[in-house]
Amino acid sequence: MPHPLLQHYVAKLSRTAQGAAVQLRAHARAFTNLAPPVRNDLIALAAFAAIAYIVSVQFNLFETLTAFLRANESHQADEILTAVLILSIGAIVFAGRRLNESVRDLERRVALEEKARSAAMHDALTGLPNRRKLNVALAEALTVAATGGAVTVIVADLDRFKPVNDLYGHAAGDALLVEVANALREEVGDDGMVARLGGDEFVIVLNDIAEIDALMERLARLSAIFDAPFAIGPNLVSVGATLGAAVAANEATTPEEILRRADVALYRAKQEGRGRFSFFEEAMDARVQERLELERQLREAVASDAITPFYQPLVDLKTSVTYGYEVLSRLRRPDGRDIAPESFIHMAEEIGVIGDLTFNILRRACREARDWPGAPLLSVNISPVQLRDPMLPQKLMQVLTETGFPPGRLQAEITESALVADFDEARAILVSLRNLGVRIALDDFGTGYSSLRHLRELPFDSLKIDRSFVQDLIDNAESQTLVQTIVDLARNLGLKLTAEGIETPTCAQALELIGCETGQGFWFGRPASGETVRRQLIEVEAAREAEALRRESSHGAA
Ligand code: C2E
Ligand code: CA
Ligand code: CA
Repeated sequence: MPHPLLQHYVAKLSRTAQGAAVQLRAHARAFTNLAPPVRNDLIALAAFAAIAYIVSVQFNLFETLTAFLRANESHQADEILTAVLILSIGAIVFAGRRLNESVRDLERRVALEEKARSAAMHDALTGLPNRRKLNVALAEALTVAATGGAVTVIVADLDRFKPVNDLYGHAAGDALLVEVANALREEVGDDGMVARLGGDEFVIVLNDIAEIDALMERLARLSAIFDAPFAIGPNLVSVGATLGAAVAANEATTPEEILRRADVALYRAKQEGRGRFSFFEEAMDARVQERLELERQLREAVASDAITPFYQPLVDLKTSVTYGYEVLSRLRRPDGRDIAPESFIHMAEEIGVIGDLTFNILRRACREARDWPGAPLLSVNISPVQLRDPMLPQKLMQVLTETGFPPGRLQAEITESALVADFDEARAILVSLRNLGVRIALDDFGTGYSSLRHLRELPFDSLKIDRSFVQDLIDNAESQTLVQTIVDLARNLGLKLTAEGIETPTCAQALELIGCETGQGFWFGRPASGETVRRQLIEVEAAREAEALRRESSHGAA
């Protein structure tokens, strides 16, 4: 075993050697990286020095020179030589400085060139890529799209830009364009590029989005940028924008062609007053226009309170007595056709009107049902989106107070998907609802992601078994086992059970036998208008009163 000190020095030495080798390699690399003329000069210089050295050694040059100088002191040759030496050192310093200067010069020129190139590719006002850069980038993107990708080109044209210039001056117009450019750039982010073609015309290129739904969402977000006015100096300036879009997927097209298509779509959107955007592709455009029309109708229906509550009975399976009603939204189109809630509820969530929709429906239902004979329960559907609103309990309470509907007669139906997003927030809201006296049912049970934790930790009163399990209960052994399991689970947790989608008496009997207490479905009654339900309830009430009277009189006669 060598001495530790020795080991230490050996290690140190080897580190130094390694360091030197690394440096040497770095120098060698730096040398080979030099520009060829510089390298050649250095090689020539080194060769010259080597030759001078060899010659000096061969002829003992230095000794000869000193002897000569000493012998001829009177010529002052040594002083002259010293002066020459100092001069050459000065020359080296001078050369170094010149070299440095020319390097900096070069750098400045490269930077200027870069700036010029960038200026040629960018719009000076907004800093966005200009038409030239757009064409280059688009050509590249289209090459990729030709072999199995997608490129969407959207041309955006501001709607009331000219009046802004006329009214507030060109500086304000410029400021507005900069604001619009920034907003567009922020919205598009890394998913594509935004270019300005001059004037108030912008082009957005989106990569890889061909799905119509994703595209529509994107377009909606782009057009939403113009919903709010822009703050320009002391003024709030409102401009709209019309968008025309074209998609190239798995096809070889040119930038000119796809821009032309997007322009055609833009033109159509403007001329035909079709709203804020339009697609070049016909099939796509038809779907988009249909959807936009539906969105418009839905907004209008919510605003004018044109969505009506329908009521479907909730029945006690043992006694067949109706104890409550589920409130279901119905939207009738101008042409008299009903739109399925499955499509408009989702849309209402997307366009942000689900809150208004729910409270409108609830208000109407509470007013209609408040005085119904028998004071039945009302069960309303609460969207997952609403379960993220901490003000939900207060808002519900406000409607109840306003309409004079007792909270104890209200039930909220929550779907499982609402619980996954933010469990703690959802729980806080459900707990406050429960504290108000509102009952809570877990809807569509079995289709979502409910865990035992959800069932145990959230304040549910009941579970609604999804109709997919109920409907094949009779012929499907698996569904039977599953429903039986849910029944056992609910009993264990002290929760009531409601079976949805009961369409036959056989199904109702089977469920009652398994141990399910309540149910709902076409067998007991389809959703009906408030007026129909009210008449039914009055008839039932009258029949009950007549029966009581009959009993009383037969009792008196006996
Ligand atoms: P849901 O909450 O599961 O409501 C029950 C749906 O099943 C209703 O469809 C009802 O008409 C239907 N149904 C009832 N019994 C039977 C039956 O025996 N057989 C069959 N095949 N179907 C039956 P509807 O009214 O079309 O509503 C569909 C969904 O739309 C509802 O499912 C609910 O998730 C949603 N929805 C409806 N109105 C509202 C609302 O006001 N707010 C919210 N957030 N969602 C609503
Ligand atoms: Ca429901
Ligand atoms: Ca349901």
